[in-house]
Amino acid sequence: MDRVQPAGFSPRNQRFPPVKIQSPIPAPAPGRDRGDVCPLRPRAVIFDLGKVLLDFDYQIALRRLLPRCRVPAEALRHLLLHERLLVEYETGRISTAEFIARLTAATGYQGTEAEFRAGFGDIFTPIEPMVALHAELRARGVPVYVLSNTNELAVDFIRGRYPWFAEFTGYVLSYEHHALKPDPALYVVAERLSGCRGAELFYFDDRPENVAAARDRGWQAVEHTDPERSRAALAATGLLDGAPGHAG
Ligand SMILES: [Mg+2]
Repeated sequence: MDRVQPAGFSPRNQRFPPVKIQSPIPAPAPGRDRGDVCPLRPRAVIFDLGKVLLDFDYQIALRRLLPRCRVPAEALRHLLLHERLLVEYETGRISTAEFIARLTAATGYQGTEAEFRAGFGDIFTPIEPMVALHAELRARGVPVYVLSNTNELAVDFIRGRYPWFAEFTGYVLSYEHHALKPDPALYVVAERLSGCRGAELFYFDDRPENVAAARDRGWQAVEHTDPERSRAALAATGLLDGAPGHAG
């Protein structure tokens, strides 16, 4: 997920080139690129996943995997969270099989792949008010999307555990597009997928740099800190007015 970029990581020092967008969507039209939340009623809502819809704790994974490894806890933690391995995995530069193989080689991991998948994936806790907000938007017929820096193991686990994850209109997952937020390339994918741009899009993300990148494209974007504030920011656009089924 997106709290595990190693120190010093930024799109500028990636060792691979950013994704080339063949037909970039033009920049937002004049007057639609305000840098803050504006009252325009959005046409689609986009959720970050980690720390917005799902809290997560990699310490859980470390505790589960450590007894099967031949390295100290600190070495496992560093390898998993602070080296480039996870970044390469979450940008789709390496496959799930390669990710597991590299971790196994580096740690002497002796468990099964199934144990690894469960140990690595089962680290989430739903943030229920935001899950409920997603359901409310669906009930109102509002298109809803996920835009996440994540990996295949996590998404496989989330799909299997949380039925609501299947109920989004569409998904922009970093490892499928070889780019991590705040790389604009990933935001362009969301614009193409939704058919919306600029202030037509309303976005929740807990990381300020990801919110800033959205605002640079004219999106209405909220730095998610707590569900009540996030819901209030969306409600201020009028999108939650009226009974479900009569809005949108
Ligand atoms: Mg997040």
